[in-house]
Amino acid sequence: LSDRLTSTFKNLRTKGRLSEADIDATVREIRRALLDADVAVPVVREFTGTVRERALSAEVSGALNPAQQVVKIVNEELVSILGGESRPLTFAKTAPTVIMLAGLQGAGKTTLAGKLALSLKEQGHTPLLVAADLQRPNAVTQLKVVGERAGAPVYAPHPGVAGEDEVPTGDPVAVARAGVETARSRQHDVVIIDTAGRLGVDAELMQQAADIRDATSPDEILFVIDAMIGQDAVATAQAFADGVAFTGVVLSKLDGDARGGAALSVARVTGRPILFASTGEKLTDFEPFHPDRMASRILDMGDVLTLIEQAEKAFDADQTEAMAAKMASGTDFTLSDFLVQMQQMRSMGSMKKMLGMLPGMGQMREALENFDEREVDRVEAIIRSMTPAERDNPKIINGSRRARIARGSGVTTTDVNQLLERFAGAQKMMRQMARGGGMAVPGMGNL
Ligand code: GDP
Ligand code: MG
Repeated sequence: LSDRLTSTFKNLRTKGRLSEADIDATVREIRRALLDADVAVPVVREFTGTVRERALSAEVSGALNPAQQVVKIVNEELVSILGGESRPLTFAKTAPTVIMLAGLQGAGKTTLAGKLALSLKEQGHTPLLVAADLQRPNAVTQLKVVGERAGAPVYAPHPGVAGEDEVPTGDPVAVARAGVETARSRQHDVVIIDTAGRLGVDAELMQQAADIRDATSPDEILFVIDAMIGQDAVATAQAFADGVAFTGVVLSKLDGDARGGAALSVARVTGRPILFASTGEKLTDFEPFHPDRMASRILDMGDVLTLIEQAEKAFDADQTEAMAAKMASGTDFTLSDFLVQMQQMRSMGSMKKMLGMLPGMGQMREALENFDEREVDRVEAIIRSMTPAERDNPKIINGSRRARIARGSGVTTTDVNQLLERFAGAQKMMRQMARGGGMAVPGMGNL
């Protein structure tokens, strides 16, 4: 998201209850951010409508933190459009599995053929690449190069491919059909058919793709689309959906600056799942598509959502509410509460791991660098050595009590003194926080 949207979310975060105006302002920023990311206009409109409706509903007003809930809704809706779970390749019941690649020229089909072949080989398959792109000079040679890199044979029975600039002749449909036959007779369990593309959607190209499809009955038709394509994504994807009825999408060039708005548009408009992400020119720059990661990328907020989920799991709602009330008064916050907070923090998992998920939180990061789990153990031991009366009212902890607590918890009296000082500081912070709003983590400032 734009910086503005990030700050909108930040502003929301400090509010207890959201008004309709708050939600509308947020939805406006989401709309702007999605349009910035080149998500198609109708998709943006539908998306923001859904988010607004859910944000105004009871699920948000009754939530622990309504603002986080709105962020969560945005994320959930993004993930849902992007297909929820990532889907693996479908294999044929009887080998060979036929995978056909389709897409515009330069989308990344030939590169993908090599990537797929390499990844399939690593999984123990024996892929055969079929060069059915006879359109472009060099297309066959290029496939041979990636085939060699992937260690997969290439079926390319064309005359005249030796000369670099020669256009191979022949019938791509016949080549594709013969390629599948060859795979069957040579016992390759997967066939990957590389096809020709054009610079733009074109009737002749689409007919050729449809003919190759009809001749080979693919188990998967993968539509490869350049993530940088922008607003053209919808028209292109729709044309290929109508023309060849692809079964899945591969998003290429995700290593570029593209925010991935195209992913959202294509997934929404065609209803087809995105299977893989291509992230570079090397054959290993290839991975299964993760809708949740893509949602974060479109939102551009790191894994804030993961953090929120972990926090939600760790913090019991009632306990937190009671704590919030105590924090609001400041003075009621006791060492017992301090102990509970420490334990909650620990249950949030490794704080140091979480810091990597938070974008733009330098202060927090620094605090976390200094965070030491053993320190929590020590604090816990000290507080546990106190009597309930001492925990409720640390003022009564005189010299002899300090010595007793230190002995009981195996620390020095200096350690006990330090803890009491820190607690006094935390208590003071609570009082300040109560005026400023937000969630406090002892010794770490605002979370
Ligand atoms: P095709 O016309 O659809 O077969 O596309 P190609 O596979 O020939 O790819 C076109 C260009 O994009 C080549 O220069 C590739 O190296 C490059 N390319 C393909 N996939 C990626 C990718 O994921 N990231 C980047 N940066 N470049 C890619
Ligand atoms: Mg190609």
